[in-house]
Parts: sequence; structure tokens; C-alpha cells
Amino acid sequence: MIEVNNLHRTYRRNVHALKGVTFTVNAGQRFGIVGESGSGKSTLVRLLAALDRPTGGLIRFRGTRIDTLPERKLKFLRNDLQIVFQDPMGSLDPRMRVKDIICEPLDRDYDRSERLRELLDAVGLPQNAATRYPHQFSGGQRQRISIARALAPYPKVLVADEPVSALDVSVRAQILNLLDELVERYDLTLVFVSHDLAVVRRVCDTVAVMRRGQIVEIGDVEQIYRYPNHPYTRELIAAVPTLQGALARFQGGS
Ligand code: ADP
Ligand code: MG
Repeated sequence: MIEVNNLHRTYRRNVHALKGVTFTVNAGQRFGIVGESGSGKSTLVRLLAALDRPTGGLIRFRGTRIDTLPERKLKFLRNDLQIVFQDPMGSLDPRMRVKDIICEPLDRDYDRSERLRELLDAVGLPQNAATRYPHQFSGGQRQRISIARALAPYPKVLVADEPVSALDVSVRAQILNLLDELVERYDLTLVFVSHDLAVVRRVCDTVAVMRRGQIVEIGDVEQIYRYPNHPYTRELIAAVPTLQGALARFQGGS
């Protein structure tokens, strides 16, 4: 589905955000990318979505090189690959009603009302959410709106960049469960980015551990979580407050 080969992205002032990243994501795979803040995860996401261009290396999407394609030839990618961002408030237009947000990626001639009903249902929002505005919802519900919009054009790949990092701990598990269920139901390929390996482990089968623009470890998420090879991976596991840990603290009321 996705092939990334020796990818580099250098910003001005000699910031080397990506330094030779190579991996493939197969159809139906749930590919996690984990690393501390500043390790290059969002840079990689922008390149995968062709929202930015690499300074070296190549990216193929279903066999087609996308890193060199002009925007007018990227329509298939704009459809087939959808992104859910960390902050739903920042990524949803506050002046648009939910129905217009969700249906924005759909063609005019499409039966939007039927698709809208389906999508609200799929993400667990009530039908009367359609005529309301983003600020009238909680953070978790806003992330459901983002997910519905992402699913609208029947994408093949869903890319989620820290989709639960801005949410209350009590809501995180619900959104992760929802993503898990939707990926299964719609046969999606998932690229899931987080700074928390426990969160990645909840929804992914494979993980790439990123540090300073490079992948230091890649493979089966369960294997890497239990037997991390790289000291940095061990640090990540030890240092980051995990979903399980946070949930335990939350439930313990401390
Ligand atoms: P992450 O998502 O893992 O936190 P980013 O990809 O956002 O990491 O950032 C990786 C590095 O690239 C950081 O050092 C960051 O400051 C830098 N960076 C990101 N975007 C830009 C940009 N548009 N211009 C300059 N530097 C950037
Ligand atoms: Mg980021």
C-alpha cells in the first residue's frame, strides 16, 4: 500500500527532521509510528499525505510515486488517504455545521444525506448532531466528527496523528476502541502515530520506533513492547505515562 525509501526532509536552518527513513505498509496492516516529541513523526505524516515534499528519497502509494507528482495528479491520494489530527478543534472549521464538515469531501451529486446518516451512526454520534457546530461538542465527540469526515470518501488508508493525545484519559480508550472497530469494519490500512507505545500497542500490529528522524527499531508491536532491543525504546516504555497506567490511576481516583 505504502512504500517509503530512504526518506529525508531537511528544513531551513539545517533542521534534519527525517534522515533516511525506510519502511513498507501492506494492505490491511496497522502500522504504528512512535517517538518522543520532535522525532519527526508529523513530518513523516505530511510527506505520506503529499502535503509536503521530501528533500530526498521516495514514496510510493499503491505503486505510484507520489513525492514527485504535481497537485493536479494527486486527486486519488486526496481520496484514498485520509488524516485524523490531534486537535479536532483546530482541524474543524468552527463556522461549519457538522453535516457540512463531514460531507465536504464528497461529490455534489452523491446522496449525501444517506451517507451522513451512516457515518454519524458508525462513529456513535446522534443524528441530531448534523445541524450543530463543533464547539457544541466535547473533545471526544469532536474527534468522532473528524473520524466521520475522514471516512466519508471511502478511503483505503487512515492516518491518525496523535488522535487521542489531546483527549481526557477517560475518553481515550473509547476513541481507540472506535478506531479499532472502524479499521476492522471498513477493511482499512492504518498508520497510527503516537508518543505512547502503549497506545500504539492497543491498535497496531507493527511499530516503527523513531528517534531524531530515524527508525531505530521496527517490527511486531507485541514483540517490541515486551522485548525492546534499542535503549531508546526501553526509555520510551519506562518514561511515558502509559494508557494502562493512566487508566489505573484514574480508576484508583488518585
Ligand atoms: P513530531 O511530530 O515527532 O513531534 P515533527 O515532525 O513535528 O516531530 O518535528 C520534527 C523536527 O522538525 C523538529 O525539530 C521540528 O522543530 C522540526 N520542524 C517540523 N516542522 C517544521 C517546519 N515547518 N519548519 C522547520 N522545522 C520544522
Ligand atoms: Mg507531531
